[in-house]
Amino acid sequence: MAFDRFGRRLHYLRISLTDHCNLRCVYCMPEEMVFRPNRELMQDEEVLFLARLFVRLGFDKIRLTGGEPTVRMNVVELVRQIAAIEGLKTLTMTTNGILLPKLAQKLKDAGLQRVNISLDTLRADKFQTLTRWGRVEDVWAGIRAAEEAGLTPIKINAVVVRNYNEEDVVEIARLTLDHPWQIRFIEMMPLGGATEFQQQQLVTMEEVFSMVEAAFGPLESLHDGELDGEARVYRIPGAQGEVGFIASVTKPFCALCTRARLTADGKLRLCLLREGEVDLLTPLRQGATEEELRDLILAGLWEKPWGHGLAQNEIAVNRVMSEIGG
Ligand code: SAM
Ligand code: SF4
Repeated sequence: MAFDRFGRRLHYLRISLTDHCNLRCVYCMPEEMVFRPNRELMQDEEVLFLARLFVRLGFDKIRLTGGEPTVRMNVVELVRQIAAIEGLKTLTMTTNGILLPKLAQKLKDAGLQRVNISLDTLRADKFQTLTRWGRVEDVWAGIRAAEEAGLTPIKINAVVVRNYNEEDVVEIARLTLDHPWQIRFIEMMPLGGATEFQQQQLVTMEEVFSMVEAAFGPLESLHDGELDGEARVYRIPGAQGEVGFIASVTKPFCALCTRARLTADGKLRLCLLREGEVDLLTPLRQGATEEELRDLILAGLWEKPWGHGLAQNEIAVNRVMSEIGG
């Protein structure tokens, strides 16, 4: 098992399968984003090798993310091989949903259990502005495909951005009345690429919570008020689904963090919002033994920072979100 020096057991690995994406969300990456050449990214066998190593170290949950994980070549076969790793209990994916009509059933058959799909607004024009060219109906088709394939329960991620979509919060929360989804509102985090925008247009979860209660009345707290992953989860009285609030900026959940991340170019990232990383891909390509890599990983994890430093205005600028995987 892997622990850090604060006694947190780390067992949840998020792997960015690619930094490439078929959208360019304003809070995630610049429009003229230049992606890494393929040779700099982990190849299939490298992803698999590292995933197996992490599972042997006690990691039992893997989330595939990106960039957009579904644009990766061979994603279905890669999912099949990761799902087959002995000891792995949970395999999920975060996706913008656009390619799910084509891939949902194949991914399910390959062993993917669930998906989180990002949807920040229900309005076509705003969706296009937020994503720079996306079509909201493609995401709806993706959500339907995920449901039909049984990639459930579906979670929907909505980042709330001032002057873009804060007025849509109520409409998005309303979806839970008729759908068994968990809709999770997320505070926009500052990270390399667009930090000024991300900080200036932050909408706090306190504000979002008030908007939802103003529209639907007092929310019922679920899970005894404990965090479900990173979200505090509630139900609108009588609703089929749940509403979650992820206050990574204003009420960080660092004390309960059990995560490690693998960037698309094979670095072990210890905290999403801190720059510290351990290069695993270079030693792997240079022929390091499994034991040497294991020692590198364990030593890196041990040094996982206690938490982010946003309150002290310490912002990680060495990468954009899509390289790390959110
Ligand atoms: N492309 C996939 C997607 O959009 O779901 C997976 C990768 S994306 C980086 C993962 C999640 O991070 C998405 O839900 C996205 O909305 C969120 N995200 C991106 N930039 C963010 C930021 N600056 N603050 C908070 N969440 C962000
Ligand atoms: Fe692409 Fe996801 Fe980033 Fe949007 S949030 S640009 S869909 S990686």
